Amino acid sequence: MDPHFALNIRQILLAPAGRNPDQLIIDGSGQARSYAAFHDRIARLGAALTAQGLCRGKTIAVMDWDSPRYLECFFAIPMMGATLHTVNIRLSPEQILYTINHAEDDAILCHEDFLPVLMPLLPRIVRPVRLILLVDRKGAVLPDGFVGEYESLLAAQPAGFDFPLLPEDTRATLFYTTGTAGDPKGVSYSHRQLVLHTLAVAADLGTVPGTGGLKRNDVYMPITPLFHVHGWGFPYIATFLGLKQVYPGRYEPARLLALIAEHGVTFSHCVPTILSMVLSAPEAAQTDLSRWRVLIGGSALPEGLAREARTKGIDIHAAYGMSETCPFVTHADMVASQHSDDVTIRAAIGKPAAMVELRVVDPEMRDVPADGRTTGEVIARAPWLTMGYLGNPVASGELWQGGWLHTGDVGHISPDGTLRITDRLKDVIKSGGEWVSSLALENLASVVPGVREVAAVGMPDARWGERPVMVVVADGAVDAAICERLGAAVAAGDLPKWAMPDRIISVLSIPRTSVGKIDKKRIRQMLESGEIA
Ligand code: AMP
Repeated sequence: MDPHFALNIRQILLAPAGRNPDQLIIDGSGQARSYAAFHDRIARLGAALTAQGLCRGKTIAVMDWDSPRYLECFFAIPMMGATLHTVNIRLSPEQILYTINHAEDDAILCHEDFLPVLMPLLPRIVRPVRLILLVDRKGAVLPDGFVGEYESLLAAQPAGFDFPLLPEDTRATLFYTTGTAGDPKGVSYSHRQLVLHTLAVAADLGTVPGTGGLKRNDVYMPITPLFHVHGWGFPYIATFLGLKQVYPGRYEPARLLALIAEHGVTFSHCVPTILSMVLSAPEAAQTDLSRWRVLIGGSALPEGLAREARTKGIDIHAAYGMSETCPFVTHADMVASQHSDDVTIRAAIGKPAAMVELRVVDPEMRDVPADGRTTGEVIARAPWLTMGYLGNPVASGELWQGGWLHTGDVGHISPDGTLRITDRLKDVIKSGGEWVSSLALENLASVVPGVREVAAVGMPDARWGERPVMVVVADGAVDAAICERLGAAVAAGDLPKWAMPDRIISVLSIPRTSVGKIDKKRIRQMLESGEIA
Protein backbone atom coordinates (compact mmCIF):
# COMPACT_ATOMS: atom_id res chain seq x y z
CA MET A 1 0.00 0.00 0.00
CA ASP A 2 1.18 3.53 -0.76
CA PRO A 3 2.25 4.76 2.71
CA HIS A 4 0.39 8.05 2.05
CA PHE A 5 -2.81 6.09 2.56
CA ALA A 6 -1.67 3.94 5.47
CA LEU A 7 -3.11 4.37 8.97
CA ASN A 8 -0.47 6.11 11.07
CA ILE A 9 -0.42 7.49 14.60
CA ARG A 10 0.56 10.89 13.17
CA GLN A 11 -2.98 11.15 11.76
CA ILE A 12 -4.39 11.19 15.30
CA LEU A 13 -2.73 14.59 15.71
CA LEU A 14 -4.20 16.24 12.63
CA ALA A 15 -7.72 17.24 13.68
CA PRO A 16 -6.94 18.73 17.12
CA ALA A 17 -4.10 20.79 15.65
CA GLY A 18 -6.40 22.43 13.14
CA ARG A 19 -9.44 22.69 15.38
CA ASN A 20 -8.16 24.15 18.60
CA PRO A 21 -4.39 24.69 18.79
CA ASP A 22 -4.81 26.69 22.03
CA GLN A 23 -6.36 23.77 23.93
CA LEU A 24 -4.29 22.89 27.01
CA ILE A 25 -2.33 19.90 28.26
CA ILE A 26 -1.50 20.30 31.94
CA ASP A 27 0.91 18.51 34.28
CA GLY A 28 0.52 17.54 37.94
CA SER A 29 2.08 20.80 39.13
CA GLY A 30 -0.37 22.83 37.07
CA GLN A 31 2.04 23.81 34.27
CA ALA A 32 0.01 24.13 31.06
CA ARG A 33 1.08 24.00 27.42
CA SER A 34 -1.06 24.39 24.30
CA TYR A 35 -1.56 21.69 21.67
CA ALA A 36 0.50 23.93 19.37
CA ALA A 37 3.41 23.70 21.83
CA PHE A 38 2.79 19.95 22.20
CA HIS A 39 3.19 19.56 18.42
CA ASP A 40 6.36 21.57 18.43
CA ARG A 41 7.76 19.42 21.26
CA ILE A 42 6.86 16.17 19.47
CA ALA A 43 8.89 17.36 16.47
CA ARG A 44 11.83 18.39 18.67
CA LEU A 45 11.70 15.03 20.47
CA GLY A 46 11.78 13.23 17.11
CA ALA A 47 14.80 15.32 16.13
CA ALA A 48 16.53 14.89 19.49
CA LEU A 49 16.15 11.10 19.47
CA THR A 50 17.30 10.95 15.86
CA ALA A 51 20.38 13.00 16.79
CA GLN A 52 21.15 10.26 19.33
CA GLY A 53 21.28 7.70 16.52
CA LEU A 54 17.81 6.37 17.28
CA CYS A 55 15.72 5.73 14.19
CA ARG A 56 13.18 3.47 12.54
CA GLY A 57 13.31 -0.09 13.90
CA LYS A 58 14.77 0.90 17.30
CA THR A 59 13.01 0.30 20.61
CA ILE A 60 12.87 3.18 23.07
CA ALA A 61 11.78 2.61 26.65
CA VAL A 62 10.17 5.12 28.99
CA MET A 63 10.12 5.00 32.80
CA ASP A 64 8.03 7.94 33.95
CA TRP A 65 4.99 8.97 35.96
CA ASP A 66 1.91 9.98 33.97
CA SER A 67 3.11 13.25 32.45
CA PRO A 68 2.61 15.39 29.32
CA ARG A 69 6.19 14.38 28.49
CA TYR A 70 5.07 10.74 28.41
CA LEU A 71 2.29 11.78 26.04
CA GLU A 72 4.92 13.36 23.76
CA CYS A 73 6.71 9.98 23.73
CA PHE A 74 3.40 8.23 22.87
CA PHE A 75 3.53 10.14 19.58
CA ALA A 76 7.13 11.02 18.69
CA ILE A 77 8.60 7.55 19.22
CA PRO A 78 6.14 5.57 17.06
CA MET A 79 6.02 8.40 14.51
CA MET A 80 9.79 7.92 14.00
CA GLY A 81 9.08 4.29 13.12
CA ALA A 82 10.56 3.21 16.46
CA THR A 83 8.74 1.22 19.14
CA LEU A 84 7.64 2.84 22.40
CA HIS A 85 8.29 0.42 25.27
CA THR A 86 6.24 1.59 28.27
CA VAL A 87 8.14 0.05 31.18
CA ASN A 88 6.00 -1.16 34.09
CA ILE A 89 7.83 0.66 36.88
CA ARG A 90 5.88 -1.31 39.49
CA LEU A 91 7.38 -4.66 38.53
CA SER A 92 10.22 -5.98 40.67
CA PRO A 93 13.71 -4.77 39.58
CA GLU A 94 14.49 -8.27 38.26
CA GLN A 95 11.32 -8.24 36.14
CA ILE A 96 12.09 -4.72 34.89
CA LEU A 97 15.54 -5.95 33.84
CA TYR A 98 13.94 -8.95 32.16
CA THR A 99 11.59 -6.71 30.14
CA ILE A 100 14.36 -4.28 29.10
CA ASN A 101 16.54 -7.16 27.87
CA HIS A 102 13.66 -9.06 26.29
CA ALA A 103 12.41 -5.95 24.46
CA GLU A 104 15.99 -5.28 23.27
CA ASP A 105 15.66 -1.64 24.21
CA ASP A 106 18.07 0.72 22.42
CA ALA A 107 17.37 3.67 24.70
CA ILE A 108 15.73 4.38 28.05
CA LEU A 109 14.15 7.69 29.03
CA CYS A 110 14.14 7.49 32.83
CA HIS A 111 12.63 9.82 35.43
CA GLU A 112 15.07 10.57 38.22
CA ASP A 113 12.69 8.95 40.73
CA PHE A 114 13.42 5.58 39.09
CA LEU A 115 17.22 5.94 39.01
CA PRO A 116 17.57 3.90 42.24
CA VAL A 117 15.89 1.02 40.37
CA LEU A 118 17.62 1.46 37.00
CA MET A 119 21.22 2.28 37.98
CA PRO A 120 22.00 -1.06 39.71
CA LEU A 121 20.52 -2.89 36.71
CA LEU A 122 22.71 -1.15 34.10
CA PRO A 123 25.65 -3.62 34.21
CA ARG A 124 23.19 -6.44 33.42
CA ILE A 125 21.49 -4.77 30.44
CA VAL A 126 22.75 -6.84 27.56
CA ARG A 127 22.62 -4.33 24.69
CA PRO A 128 24.18 -0.87 24.68
CA VAL A 129 21.49 1.65 25.66
CA ARG A 130 21.34 5.44 25.29
CA LEU A 131 20.15 6.87 28.61
CA ILE A 132 18.14 10.10 28.80
CA LEU A 133 17.17 11.75 32.07
CA LEU A 134 13.67 13.06 32.83
CA VAL A 135 13.36 15.58 35.67
CA ASP A 136 10.71 17.92 37.02
CA ARG A 137 13.14 20.52 38.33
CA LYS A 138 15.97 22.70 37.06
CA GLY A 139 19.65 22.09 37.71
CA ALA A 140 19.65 18.29 37.95
CA VAL A 141 23.06 16.68 37.49
CA LEU A 142 23.37 14.04 34.75
CA PRO A 143 24.19 10.66 36.26
CA ASP A 144 27.12 8.68 34.82
CA GLY A 145 26.37 7.11 31.47
CA PHE A 146 23.46 9.45 30.59
CA VAL A 147 23.70 11.25 27.24
CA GLY A 148 21.41 14.14 28.09
CA GLU A 149 18.41 15.57 29.89
CA TYR A 150 15.06 15.63 28.07
CA GLU A 151 14.33 19.39 28.19
CA SER A 152 17.88 20.40 27.21
CA LEU A 153 17.89 17.91 24.34
CA LEU A 154 14.57 19.30 23.04
CA ALA A 155 15.71 22.90 23.43
CA ALA A 156 18.85 22.17 21.38
CA GLN A 157 16.81 21.10 18.33
CA PRO A 158 15.39 23.38 15.63
CA ALA A 159 11.61 23.50 15.22
CA GLY A 160 10.06 21.05 12.76
CA PHE A 161 11.00 17.48 11.97
CA ASP A 162 10.09 15.28 9.04
CA PHE A 163 8.63 12.11 10.46
CA PRO A 164 8.73 9.29 7.89
CA LEU A 165 5.66 7.83 6.21
CA LEU A 166 5.31 4.34 7.64
CA PRO A 167 3.63 1.14 6.52
CA GLU A 168 0.59 0.76 8.78
CA ASP A 169 1.71 -2.56 10.24
CA THR A 170 4.87 -0.95 11.67
CA ARG A 171 5.16 -1.85 15.35
CA ALA A 172 4.28 1.21 17.46
CA THR A 173 4.08 0.13 21.10
CA LEU A 174 5.32 -2.68 23.31
CA PHE A 175 4.65 -3.44 26.95
CA TYR A 176 4.67 -6.45 29.22
CA THR A 177 1.89 -8.29 31.01
CA THR A 178 2.01 -8.02 34.77
CA GLY A 179 3.78 -11.35 35.10
CA THR A 180 1.85 -12.72 38.09
CA ALA A 181 2.33 -16.18 36.55
CA GLY A 182 5.87 -16.66 35.21
CA ASP A 183 7.90 -14.11 33.26
CA PRO A 184 6.05 -11.06 31.91
CA LYS A 185 5.03 -11.52 28.27
CA GLY A 186 5.63 -8.86 25.59
CA VAL A 187 2.54 -7.49 23.87
CA SER A 188 2.80 -5.11 20.94
CA TYR A 189 0.50 -3.08 18.71
CA SER A 190 0.92 -1.60 15.25
CA HIS A 191 0.02 1.88 14.00
CA ARG A 192 -2.99 0.42 12.22
CA GLN A 193 -4.26 -1.28 15.37
CA LEU A 194 -3.87 1.81 17.55
CA VAL A 195 -5.56 4.07 15.00
CA LEU A 196 -8.49 1.67 14.57
CA HIS A 197 -8.82 1.25 18.35
CA THR A 198 -8.83 5.05 18.74
CA LEU A 199 -11.49 5.51 16.06
CA ALA A 200 -13.74 2.72 17.33
CA VAL A 201 -13.64 3.73 21.00
CA ALA A 202 -14.10 7.42 20.18
CA ALA A 203 -17.07 6.58 17.95
CA ASP A 204 -18.57 4.26 20.54
CA LEU A 205 -18.20 6.51 23.58
CA GLY A 206 -19.00 9.61 21.52
CA THR A 207 -22.37 8.24 20.50
CA VAL A 208 -23.56 6.91 23.87
CA PRO A 209 -26.80 8.78 24.54
CA GLY A 210 -27.07 10.68 27.82
CA THR A 211 -24.41 9.36 30.14
CA GLY A 212 -21.15 7.53 30.03
CA GLY A 213 -19.72 9.00 26.86
CA LEU A 214 -16.77 11.10 25.90
CA LYS A 215 -17.32 14.45 24.16
CA ARG A 216 -15.04 17.13 22.75
CA ASN A 217 -15.75 19.44 25.69
CA ASP A 218 -14.63 16.86 28.24
CA VAL A 219 -11.55 17.36 30.41
CA TYR A 220 -9.52 14.18 30.59
CA MET A 221 -7.26 12.88 33.36
CA PRO A 222 -5.94 9.29 33.41
CA ILE A 223 -5.67 7.45 36.71
CA THR A 224 -4.42 4.33 34.99
CA PRO A 225 -0.64 4.33 34.74
CA LEU A 226 0.44 5.01 31.18
CA PHE A 227 2.46 1.78 31.23
CA HIS A 228 -0.76 -0.26 31.71
CA VAL A 229 -1.89 -1.06 28.15
CA HIS A 230 -0.66 2.38 27.02
CA GLY A 231 -3.07 4.05 29.46
CA TRP A 232 -5.89 1.88 28.02
CA GLY A 233 -5.42 3.78 24.74
CA PHE A 234 -7.06 6.91 26.18
CA PRO A 235 -4.13 9.30 25.66
CA TYR A 236 -4.52 8.62 21.92
CA ILE A 237 -8.32 8.97 22.10
CA ALA A 238 -8.21 12.18 24.18
CA THR A 239 -5.66 13.71 21.80
CA PHE A 240 -7.64 12.62 18.75
CA LEU A 241 -10.67 14.44 20.19
CA GLY A 242 -8.55 17.49 21.12
CA LEU A 243 -9.59 17.37 24.77
CA LYS A 244 -8.11 19.44 27.53
CA GLN A 245 -5.86 16.90 29.26
CA VAL A 246 -4.40 16.69 32.74
CA TYR A 247 -1.53 14.28 33.51
CA PRO A 248 -1.34 13.97 37.29
CA GLY A 249 2.19 12.62 37.83
CA ARG A 250 2.46 10.33 40.81
CA TYR A 251 -0.94 9.21 42.13
CA GLU A 252 -1.68 10.82 45.47
CA PRO A 253 -5.41 10.94 46.30
CA ALA A 254 -5.34 14.51 47.67
CA ARG A 255 -3.55 15.78 44.56
CA LEU A 256 -5.85 13.87 42.20
CA LEU A 257 -8.86 15.42 43.92
CA ALA A 258 -7.30 18.89 43.81
CA LEU A 259 -6.60 18.51 40.08
CA ILE A 260 -10.18 17.37 39.43
CA ALA A 261 -11.50 20.46 41.21
CA GLU A 262 -8.99 22.94 39.80
CA HIS A 263 -9.15 21.90 36.16
CA GLY A 264 -12.76 20.73 36.02
CA VAL A 265 -11.84 17.13 35.11
CA THR A 266 -14.89 15.35 33.69
CA PHE A 267 -13.50 12.02 32.45
CA SER A 268 -11.09 9.53 34.02
CA HIS A 269 -10.51 5.79 33.99
CA CYS A 270 -9.05 3.48 36.61
CA VAL A 271 -9.17 0.09 38.28
CA PRO A 272 -11.70 -0.16 41.14
CA THR A 273 -9.08 -0.18 43.92
CA ILE A 274 -7.74 3.21 42.80
CA LEU A 275 -11.20 4.78 42.78
CA SER A 276 -11.80 3.31 46.20
CA MET A 277 -8.53 4.89 47.39
CA VAL A 278 -9.53 8.30 45.99
CA LEU A 279 -13.01 8.18 47.52
CA SER A 280 -11.61 7.15 50.92
CA ALA A 281 -9.31 10.20 51.08
CA PRO A 282 -10.52 12.81 53.60
CA GLU A 283 -10.48 15.48 50.85
CA ALA A 284 -13.11 13.53 48.86
CA ALA A 285 -15.86 14.73 51.18
CA GLN A 286 -15.06 18.38 50.34
CA THR A 287 -14.66 17.88 46.57
CA ASP A 288 -17.54 18.27 44.17
CA LEU A 289 -17.39 15.11 42.04
CA SER A 290 -20.78 15.53 40.43
CA ARG A 291 -19.30 16.37 37.00
CA TRP A 292 -16.85 13.47 37.06
CA ARG A 293 -17.38 10.49 34.74
CA VAL A 294 -15.28 7.45 35.59
CA LEU A 295 -14.80 4.41 33.43
CA ILE A 296 -13.79 1.37 35.47
CA GLY A 297 -11.87 -1.52 33.96
CA GLY A 298 -9.14 -4.00 34.73
CA SER A 299 -11.27 -5.76 37.37
CA ALA A 300 -14.96 -6.14 38.07
CA LEU A 301 -16.68 -3.01 39.34
CA PRO A 302 -18.13 -4.08 42.73
CA GLU A 303 -21.70 -2.95 43.19
CA GLY A 304 -20.84 -1.43 46.58
CA LEU A 305 -18.23 0.84 45.00
CA ALA A 306 -20.59 1.73 42.15
CA ARG A 307 -23.24 2.76 44.69
CA GLU A 308 -20.78 4.78 46.74
CA ALA A 309 -19.66 6.58 43.58
CA ARG A 310 -23.26 7.28 42.60
CA THR A 311 -24.01 8.83 46.00
CA LYS A 312 -21.17 11.28 45.30
CA GLY A 313 -22.75 12.07 41.93
CA ILE A 314 -20.10 10.29 39.87
CA ASP A 315 -21.23 8.97 36.50
CA ILE A 316 -19.60 5.54 36.76
CA HIS A 317 -19.45 2.72 34.18
CA ALA A 318 -17.56 -0.48 33.64
CA ALA A 319 -15.66 -1.56 30.57
CA TYR A 320 -13.82 -4.76 29.83
CA GLY A 321 -10.60 -5.67 28.15
CA MET A 322 -7.10 -6.94 28.75
CA SER A 323 -3.48 -6.28 27.82
CA GLU A 324 -3.84 -8.52 24.78
CA THR A 325 -6.91 -6.64 23.47
CA CYS A 326 -5.46 -3.08 23.26
CA PRO A 327 -7.62 -3.08 25.58
CA PHE A 328 -11.24 -2.27 24.64
CA VAL A 329 -13.65 -5.12 24.00
CA THR A 330 -16.92 -4.11 25.70
CA HIS A 331 -18.38 -1.31 27.76
CA ALA A 332 -21.50 -0.82 29.85
CA ASP A 333 -24.42 -0.07 27.59
CA MET A 334 -26.57 2.58 29.17
CA VAL A 335 -28.93 2.44 26.20
CA ALA A 336 -30.27 -0.74 27.74
CA SER A 337 -31.26 1.18 30.87
CA GLN A 338 -34.14 3.58 31.24
CA HIS A 339 -32.66 4.71 34.55
CA SER A 340 -29.40 6.58 34.49
CA ASP A 341 -28.54 5.32 37.98
CA ASP A 342 -29.16 1.67 37.35
CA VAL A 343 -26.07 0.35 39.10
CA THR A 344 -26.47 -3.19 37.79
CA ILE A 345 -26.18 -2.00 34.20
CA ARG A 346 -23.34 0.35 35.03
CA ALA A 347 -21.39 -2.52 36.63
CA ALA A 348 -22.13 -5.11 33.93
CA ILE A 349 -19.46 -5.00 31.31
CA GLY A 350 -22.03 -4.59 28.65
CA LYS A 351 -22.04 -4.98 24.93
CA PRO A 352 -19.22 -5.47 22.44
CA ALA A 353 -17.53 -2.26 21.30
CA ALA A 354 -17.68 -1.31 17.61
CA MET A 355 -15.92 -3.82 15.34
CA VAL A 356 -15.62 -6.46 18.10
CA GLU A 357 -16.88 -10.05 17.81
CA LEU A 358 -17.44 -11.84 21.11
CA ARG A 359 -18.42 -15.38 21.98
CA VAL A 360 -18.77 -17.39 25.17
CA VAL A 361 -17.80 -20.99 24.52
CA ASP A 362 -17.35 -24.40 26.12
CA PRO A 363 -13.97 -26.19 26.07
CA GLU A 364 -14.74 -27.50 22.53
CA MET A 365 -15.32 -23.89 21.42
CA ARG A 366 -19.06 -24.39 20.96
CA ASP A 367 -21.20 -21.38 21.89
CA VAL A 368 -23.01 -21.78 25.20
CA PRO A 369 -26.63 -20.57 25.35
CA ALA A 370 -27.00 -16.79 25.76
CA ASP A 371 -29.38 -17.25 28.70
CA GLY A 372 -27.62 -15.04 31.25
CA ARG A 373 -26.67 -18.13 33.29
CA THR A 374 -24.58 -20.61 31.33
CA THR A 375 -20.94 -19.74 31.67
CA GLY A 376 -18.01 -20.43 29.39
CA GLU A 377 -14.76 -18.83 28.26
CA VAL A 378 -14.97 -15.44 26.58
CA ILE A 379 -13.23 -15.40 23.20
CA ALA A 380 -12.90 -12.43 20.88
CA ARG A 381 -11.87 -11.05 17.52
CA ALA A 382 -11.27 -7.43 16.56
CA PRO A 383 -8.83 -5.67 14.23
CA TRP A 384 -6.73 -4.45 17.18
CA LEU A 385 -6.15 -7.61 19.21
CA THR A 386 -2.46 -8.42 19.63
CA MET A 387 -1.19 -10.99 17.15
CA GLY A 388 0.83 -12.81 19.80
CA TYR A 389 3.47 -12.53 22.49
CA LEU A 390 6.91 -11.26 21.52
CA GLY A 391 9.25 -14.20 20.90
CA ASN A 392 6.85 -16.70 22.49
CA PRO A 393 5.18 -18.82 19.79
CA VAL A 394 3.86 -21.40 22.28
CA ALA A 395 1.94 -18.88 24.41
CA SER A 396 0.85 -17.05 21.21
CA GLY A 397 -0.57 -20.30 19.82
CA GLU A 398 -2.52 -20.88 23.02
CA LEU A 399 -3.80 -17.30 23.00
CA TRP A 400 -5.09 -17.66 19.43
CA GLN A 401 -6.19 -21.28 19.56
CA GLY A 402 -8.82 -21.94 16.88
CA GLY A 403 -8.42 -18.46 15.37
CA TRP A 404 -10.03 -16.62 18.30
CA LEU A 405 -8.30 -14.77 21.10
CA HIS A 406 -8.84 -16.66 24.36
CA THR A 407 -9.31 -14.18 27.19
CA GLY A 408 -9.02 -16.70 30.03
CA ASP A 409 -12.14 -15.08 31.49
CA VAL A 410 -15.33 -16.89 32.40
CA GLY A 411 -18.63 -15.18 31.75
CA HIS A 412 -22.14 -15.41 30.39
CA ILE A 413 -24.24 -13.48 27.88
CA SER A 414 -27.85 -12.44 28.57
CA PRO A 415 -30.54 -12.73 25.92
CA ASP A 416 -30.20 -8.97 25.34
CA GLY A 417 -26.49 -9.45 24.52
CA THR A 418 -25.04 -8.13 27.80
CA LEU A 419 -21.80 -9.84 28.83
CA ARG A 420 -20.97 -10.38 32.48
CA ILE A 421 -17.66 -11.77 33.72
CA THR A 422 -17.94 -14.19 36.63
CA ASP A 423 -14.25 -15.02 37.07
CA ARG A 424 -10.78 -15.48 35.67
CA LEU A 425 -10.38 -19.12 34.65
CA LYS A 426 -7.48 -19.34 37.08
CA ASP A 427 -9.41 -17.69 39.95
CA VAL A 428 -12.60 -19.69 39.65
CA ILE A 429 -13.46 -21.59 42.85
CA LYS A 430 -14.33 -25.25 42.33
CA SER A 431 -16.27 -26.65 45.29
CA GLY A 432 -17.48 -30.25 45.01
CA GLY A 433 -17.06 -30.07 41.22
CA GLU A 434 -19.28 -26.96 40.94
CA TRP A 435 -18.00 -23.53 39.99
CA VAL A 436 -18.48 -20.72 42.45
CA SER A 437 -18.13 -17.21 41.05
CA SER A 438 -15.70 -15.25 43.22
CA LEU A 439 -16.94 -12.04 41.60
CA ALA A 440 -20.55 -12.81 42.56
CA LEU A 441 -19.49 -13.32 46.20
CA GLU A 442 -17.44 -10.12 46.18
CA ASN A 443 -20.24 -8.16 44.59
CA LEU A 444 -22.76 -9.20 47.23
CA ALA A 445 -20.36 -8.49 50.10
CA SER A 446 -19.34 -5.13 48.63
CA VAL A 447 -22.75 -3.58 49.35
CA VAL A 448 -22.63 -4.40 53.08
CA PRO A 449 -22.16 -1.13 55.00
CA GLY A 450 -18.58 -0.77 56.26
CA VAL A 451 -17.02 -3.05 53.63
CA ARG A 452 -14.23 -1.20 51.83
CA GLU A 453 -12.56 -3.99 49.87
CA VAL A 454 -13.27 -7.66 49.53
CA ALA A 455 -11.74 -10.66 47.75
CA ALA A 456 -12.98 -14.26 47.55
CA VAL A 457 -10.55 -17.06 46.71
CA GLY A 458 -10.66 -20.84 46.56
CA MET A 459 -8.56 -22.69 49.14
CA PRO A 460 -7.72 -26.42 48.98
CA ASP A 461 -10.14 -28.62 50.91
CA ALA A 462 -9.79 -32.37 51.45
CA ARG A 463 -13.50 -33.06 51.04
CA TRP A 464 -14.68 -30.57 48.42
CA GLY A 465 -11.49 -29.93 46.44
CA GLU A 466 -11.74 -26.21 47.15
CA ARG A 467 -13.80 -23.99 49.43
CA PRO A 468 -14.40 -20.23 49.23
CA VAL A 469 -12.61 -18.01 51.72
CA MET A 470 -13.26 -14.28 51.88
CA VAL A 471 -10.87 -11.56 53.02
CA VAL A 472 -12.30 -8.16 53.83
CA VAL A 473 -11.05 -4.68 54.60
CA ALA A 474 -13.80 -3.00 56.61
CA ASP A 475 -14.65 -0.31 59.10
CA GLY A 476 -15.74 -2.39 62.10
CA ALA A 477 -17.03 -5.96 62.30
CA VAL A 478 -18.89 -6.99 59.18
CA ASP A 479 -18.78 -10.83 59.04
CA ALA A 480 -22.27 -11.30 60.46
CA ALA A 481 -23.74 -8.75 58.04
CA ILE A 482 -21.91 -10.37 55.10
CA CYS A 483 -23.20 -13.83 56.11
CA GLU A 484 -26.69 -12.40 56.32
CA ARG A 485 -26.39 -10.78 52.87
CA LEU A 486 -25.02 -13.96 51.28
CA GLY A 487 -27.63 -16.07 53.11
CA ALA A 488 -30.38 -13.86 51.66
CA ALA A 489 -28.92 -14.38 48.16
CA VAL A 490 -28.91 -18.15 48.73
CA ALA A 491 -32.54 -18.02 49.94
CA ALA A 492 -33.51 -16.00 46.87
CA GLY A 493 -31.85 -18.55 44.59
CA ASP A 494 -29.23 -16.04 43.37
CA LEU A 495 -26.32 -17.96 44.88
CA PRO A 496 -25.82 -21.72 45.36
CA LYS A 497 -25.58 -22.68 49.00
CA TRP A 498 -22.14 -24.26 48.56
CA ALA A 499 -20.90 -20.75 47.63
CA MET A 500 -21.15 -19.61 51.28
CA PRO A 501 -17.51 -18.95 52.33
CA ASP A 502 -16.04 -21.19 54.99
CA ARG A 503 -14.25 -18.23 56.52
CA ILE A 504 -14.52 -14.45 56.39
CA ILE A 505 -11.28 -12.89 57.53
CA SER A 506 -10.78 -9.21 58.34
CA VAL A 507 -7.47 -7.76 57.19
CA LEU A 508 -5.94 -4.29 57.25
CA SER A 509 -5.12 -4.31 53.55
CA ILE A 510 -5.42 -6.57 50.53
CA PRO A 511 -2.32 -7.21 48.39
CA ARG A 512 -2.32 -5.62 44.94
CA THR A 513 -0.62 -6.30 41.63
CA SER A 514 1.70 -3.84 39.90
CA VAL A 515 -1.29 -2.19 38.24
CA GLY A 516 -3.24 -1.85 41.48
CA LYS A 517 -5.60 -4.81 41.11
CA ILE A 518 -6.43 -7.25 43.90
CA ASP A 519 -3.72 -9.94 43.78
CA LYS A 520 -5.55 -13.23 44.34
CA LYS A 521 -2.50 -15.37 43.78
CA ARG A 522 -0.75 -13.57 46.64
CA ILE A 523 -3.85 -13.83 48.85
CA ARG A 524 -3.92 -17.61 48.33
CA GLN A 525 -0.20 -17.80 49.21
CA MET A 526 -0.76 -15.71 52.34
CA LEU A 527 -3.67 -17.89 53.44
CA GLU A 528 -1.63 -21.02 52.79
CA SER A 529 1.40 -19.78 54.72
CA GLY A 530 -0.74 -18.50 57.60
CA GLU A 531 0.24 -14.84 56.96
CA ILE A 532 -3.50 -14.24 56.79
CA ALA A 533 -5.38 -16.30 59.35
P1 AMP B 1 -4.77 -6.87 32.25
O1 AMP B 1 -4.20 -7.66 31.16
O2 AMP B 1 -3.84 -6.59 33.39
O3 AMP B 1 -5.35 -5.62 31.74
O4 AMP B 1 -5.95 -7.74 32.89
C1 AMP B 1 -7.02 -8.14 32.11
C2 AMP B 1 -8.00 -8.89 32.94
O5 AMP B 1 -8.67 -8.05 33.87
C3 AMP B 1 -9.12 -9.49 32.14
O6 AMP B 1 -8.74 -10.67 31.49
C4 AMP B 1 -10.19 -9.71 33.19
O7 AMP B 1 -9.94 -10.87 33.95
C5 AMP B 1 -9.98 -8.53 34.10
N1 AMP B 1 -10.96 -7.48 33.78
C6 AMP B 1 -10.79 -6.40 33.03
N2 AMP B 1 -11.91 -5.64 33.00
C7 AMP B 1 -12.82 -6.29 33.76
C8 AMP B 1 -14.18 -6.03 34.13
N3 AMP B 1 -14.83 -4.92 33.77
N4 AMP B 1 -14.81 -6.95 34.91
C9 AMP B 1 -14.18 -8.06 35.32
N5 AMP B 1 -12.90 -8.34 35.03
C10 AMP B 1 -12.22 -7.47 34.26
